[in-house]
Amino acid sequence: MPDEARLFREACLIDGRWIETADAWIDVDNPATGEVIGRVPKLGAAEAQAAIDAAERAMPAWAALTAKERANILRRWYDLIMAHQEPLARILTREQGKPLAEAKGEIAYAASFIEWFAEEAKRVYGEVIPGHLANARIVVLKQPIGVVAAITPWNFPAAMITRKLGPALAAGCATVLKPASQTPFTALALAVLAEEAGIPKGLINVVTGSAAAIGETWTASPVVRKLTFTGSTEIGAKLYEQSAPTIKKLSLELGGNAPFLVFDDADVDAAVAGAIASKYRNAGQTCVCANRLYVQSGIHDAFVAKLVEAVGRLKVGKGEEEGTQIGPLIDEAAVAKAQEHVDDVLAKGGAVLAGGKPLGGRFFQPTVLTGVKPGMIILKEETFGPVAPIVKFETEAEAIALANDSEFGLAAYFYAQNLGLVWRVAEAIESGIIGINTGIISTEVAPFGGVKLSGLGREGSRHGIEDYLEIKYLCMDIG
Ligand code: ADP
Repeated sequence: MPDEARLFREACLIDGRWIETADAWIDVDNPATGEVIGRVPKLGAAEAQAAIDAAERAMPAWAALTAKERANILRRWYDLIMAHQEPLARILTREQGKPLAEAKGEIAYAASFIEWFAEEAKRVYGEVIPGHLANARIVVLKQPIGVVAAITPWNFPAAMITRKLGPALAAGCATVLKPASQTPFTALALAVLAEEAGIPKGLINVVTGSAAAIGETWTASPVVRKLTFTGSTEIGAKLYEQSAPTIKKLSLELGGNAPFLVFDDADVDAAVAGAIASKYRNAGQTCVCANRLYVQSGIHDAFVAKLVEAVGRLKVGKGEEEGTQIGPLIDEAAVAKAQEHVDDVLAKGGAVLAGGKPLGGRFFQPTVLTGVKPGMIILKEETFGPVAPIVKFETEAEAIALANDSEFGLAAYFYAQNLGLVWRVAEAIESGIIGINTGIISTEVAPFGGVKLSGLGREGSRHGIEDYLEIKYLCMDIG
């Protein structure tokens, strides 16, 4: 069977069994065409509970393996993902819409978390603390937290899964996963490869279906000790609340509203290249996409002219078409939101210098807006579309105040050369991630996460595994 057909499952995986029958189904479409590409079971509370039970049964034997044994199995999963980069990317593009080259990049990025955490599994070090009494010895152990529930979004159908399941499995936990209903097939394909890699049954359970029913079952369960979620702040806050009675540990990677600052002494070409990379990747649908561009008055006109030129060269099209740089948005509501943000800027005195219009279906022109002022919706809300609003500023203090004028704090970017200014601005901006003279900040080796309403916890890096571990200390009286 060709790889793509073997990996494409219209089913769920619970306790090592593929569930291929259901009372109700969810249709999944291709955002580039609107065509239904397949369907997945619409499961609910009973199956969500069965997944927890399977994970609970599977975890002890997995946690009892040596870290090296777990690492070797995870490494095989990594190798299989990379060996199937092309068919996985095709499935991802078909359900999500992003250009095939970006989808391949995402598969490699997704795999990198499995590789990284397979390595980190072996470095979960404890501590020996000098005793507080002559006869006391204190030892700190780190142990897997327990069953982990993961709920993931549609904008990175592969990477948002592996950066949760990678550290959870490396730490010795078992997992239950609900992928986004728009993009379940990439998750299911990763689960096929996990099975082939020899990850024992019950350690990865994939349940598609009613988000509310599954989320309620998992948050209410005392067996689930950790919930890791990437998605909107609204749903994140709800899951936080639902997790309170069982005092779960939470990782929440929520909305962003990334500022992108260009100071007068910046390299203008580098700043334009960074803005293109940061703003228009995945058609603007990432939580670290530049959402608001602030440009100092001395460089403003040069930056705007070059950005408009670069945006004019971006190729919009179906993800599978060679050379496509901007694919469709995920659904009609996303197109309407981009349009609403553009219309609000125009109504309040701003100007469109590039794009500004829908292109039919779920496509929207890459857009540049100038004359944007505080009070416009686009500066407050995450657009999640290919629209760049530009605000002119005069001073460093003004730029910092504008950048921090948001309830979110995930990523921020700025371009400048002066070393003192670089330090001052980097320290003053309230966000978890700062790109300095770069528009690309995602890597498995760095801690990704936000402050303020952007969330809790960090994913990736050596910090990423800590969220899946509990600390236990042993206090010994040696007589
Ligand atoms: P987005 O705007 O990116 O779709 P959401 O927060 O709506 O963000 O969705 C992210 C994930 O959360 C998806 O898997 C979605 O199905 C899930 N989700 C949505 N509503 C709930 C809920 N009430 N409980 C649990 N999960 C939910």
